[in-house]
Order: sequence, then structure tokens, then C-alpha cells
Amino acid sequence: MAYDKPLPVPTREDRPFWEAAREHRFVLPRCRECGHVWFPPYESCQRCLSFEREWFEASERGVVWGYTLMQQPYVPGYRDELPYNVVLVELEEGPMVYSNLVGVPDDEIRPGLAVEAVFEDVTEEFTLIRFRRAEEPSGRDRT
Ligand SMILES: [Zn+2]
Repeated sequence: MAYDKPLPVPTREDRPFWEAAREHRFVLPRCRECGHVWFPPYESCQRCLSFEREWFEASERGVVWGYTLMQQPYVPGYRDELPYNVVLVELEEGPMVYSNLVGVPDDEIRPGLAVEAVFEDVTEEFTLIRFRRAEEPSGRDRT
């Protein structure tokens, strides 16, 4: 069945992120000047405004910072999945990313849950990064 949910529209700023995801690699931008790591992948450092950006392989790990359960079909294509979760994950590297948790019952989703990235090939061109419960809790698991 054709994928009927919204897809990314890569820009010059985030194209390397999507290309890496397609190879099942989770990369983040890091500033060569001050070491700051940020997301979404704007072209310049959000701390010192330098354009000296490099990409590195992230740990793929983080903790749930917050979440919501969507009850309404605000986005076409998700109607059959209601309710579904949207989580804000705090990555070990610091940045926060919005995503979905897979394989975790709604009543077990909670802040502090240790998670790790999972790659979902949704089309020929795009792989989305979602999260699942981490197999080994990290030192930062607060639950
Ligand atoms: Zn910087």
C-alpha cells in the first residue's frame, strides 16, 4: 500500500540528515568552533552562529522528555492509527527531537523512559527515525 502520510521535504540544511537516515545512520550536526550539537539541522550553530558545521554519528539513545496521545485525525493518513503517540525525546547528545514510540503500550509511555532509535523505511526515498524502549537502560534512565 502506498505511504499516505506526510514526507520530509529535504532542504540544503537537512539533506545530509535524511541521506544518512536512508542508510540507517543517525547523524547530528556539531559545531567545529564550539562543539555545540543541535537539531533540527540548521546550517549555523545555534550557540555561536558559526557555519563550521560537521556531521557525526549520534548514540541513537535518549530519554522521553514528554509525550502526547493524538486522538483527532489532524494529519491525513493517520486516521486509522488513532490514538497514536508523539514523543519529545531528549537525545544523549542534548538536542530534543519529536518522533513516535513504537512497540510501547500507551499506558507505559512516561517521561524518563530510556529509548533508542529505530529506522523505518517508509518509501524508496525516505527512512524515518522513530524510537523504541532501550534494550539496556542508560546511565541517564531516570525511571
Ligand atoms: Zn558553535
